[in-house]
Amino acid sequence: MRPLHETDACAGKIFVESSVQKFFGSCQTIKIKMIQAYFRNYIRFDQGVSRAFYRSGMAQGFQNSANQCGLSAPQIPFQPDNQPRHESPGLSQPRAQRQRSRLIGKLHTCDEVFIIRAMSEIEHSGHPVQRDANAHASLAALVVAIRQWAAELGFSALTIGKAELRPDAGERLRGWLDAGCHGDMHYMARHAFVRTHPAELMPNVSRVISARMHYWPDAAPATEVLGNGALAYVSRYALGRDYHKIVRTRLQKLAERITQAVPASTRVFVDSAPVLEKEFAQRSGLGWRGKHTLLVARDPGSPVSSGSCFFIGEIFIDLPLPVDAPVSSHCGRCTACLTACPTGAIVAPYRLDARRCISYLTIEHSGPIPELLRPHIGNRIYGCDDCQLVCRWHRYVPQSVEKDFAVRNGLDRACLVSLFAWSEAEFLQRTAGSPIRRIGHERWLRNIAVALGNAPHSPERVAALRAREEDSSALVREHVHWALRRQGV
Ligand code: SF4
Repeated sequence: MRPLHETDACAGKIFVESSVQKFFGSCQTIKIKMIQAYFRNYIRFDQGVSRAFYRSGMAQGFQNSANQCGLSAPQIPFQPDNQPRHESPGLSQPRAQRQRSRLIGKLHTCDEVFIIRAMSEIEHSGHPVQRDANAHASLAALVVAIRQWAAELGFSALTIGKAELRPDAGERLRGWLDAGCHGDMHYMARHAFVRTHPAELMPNVSRVISARMHYWPDAAPATEVLGNGALAYVSRYALGRDYHKIVRTRLQKLAERITQAVPASTRVFVDSAPVLEKEFAQRSGLGWRGKHTLLVARDPGSPVSSGSCFFIGEIFIDLPLPVDAPVSSHCGRCTACLTACPTGAIVAPYRLDARRCISYLTIEHSGPIPELLRPHIGNRIYGCDDCQLVCRWHRYVPQSVEKDFAVRNGLDRACLVSLFAWSEAEFLQRTAGSPIRRIGHERWLRNIAVALGNAPHSPERVAALRAREEDSSALVREHVHWALRRQGV
């Protein structure tokens, strides 16, 4: 049985006859989930559930149906529903609303009772009823409120799309996986089906709310650091606090505000489950897919462009909110990101081979970094921003005002030699709360060894490498030996 709110506006009677009655022969309890006053309009329950059942003659229908199912003498004593309906004129009185479950009828048979219950009925107070409120207008008002709450929570933009992917999404993902482009991110292949079937994560999902939050911090200029071999370059998104925690907490707050205002089921994701987040975000117009595969956005009417330096998170929700249209691509003939990639990881427009990507090699990949690629990594010790830095839409990227994204431990222009000297305890202490911590001390040293190997020759750097020649990790030792050879030792 489909959720009631998905039924056509004029199909209430037909829906109940065809979808509800047949359950009488097989169920003992029938729960009808009514989702807020907004959706009563979809099924013409404008007088309340019980009266609507009565008016449309459903009682008799149930009786007939029960007889057909072999049940004797059924009755449906509907509870009188004479309470006035109240509806808030806006969405600013969520606390006046209370969710509840309301019994609307029982079907008595010789030895069993079937219960019809309206779930999540809303009790409103304080304002006169607006019986014929337009459901779409109400939902549109809700969306306006959601966008306002999102802005208050620090999100730069929020869009809503259907919980559907393009028909070829599964095929494209499969082709990418079959070509091995995911490297050793085996979880991507393991959860491929779930990725392309959002209902696997939330069975009743109807819409995906996508939101973005800028992170570009007030940090040393990226190109300056990249041009100085003595310094370590850390991807600008990782200089502050771990975004997973920040974005997730804010999205959870947003989801709670929504569910305080209307009865709805939600589920929040921030890189925490197999969700094709950029696909959903693109479909709902949060941005367009750049040729580097990241989402790119520009804010219409604003002198600044958002580039692609923002985090994305999603709320799955079971309300049929109005959806936003996709935006058109503004890449044109540009291929700057393809040519700027130091390791040639963007093998074609919109196709990334993760096995060559510096972000993958320095963060996701746990083994040795392929020797052929090491010289191209330069001084990038955690992630890479090159394809974003060259993008013309990045030029006016706004700086984040979030304190949590502010640079920690001077990692925006840290010296390679000093970072290489960190003990494991120091690494854990200084990267507490940072996304860098997840790679662990061993990969941290591996990455810095590569950068030291690529740096101009200096006795100080050679000495730093020699100090780790006998490191307990074979992975680190091998990269140190490679770096020493690069330093001419
Ligand atoms: S660099 Fe050019 S091709 Fe790449 S995302 Fe930006 S505009 Fe598109």
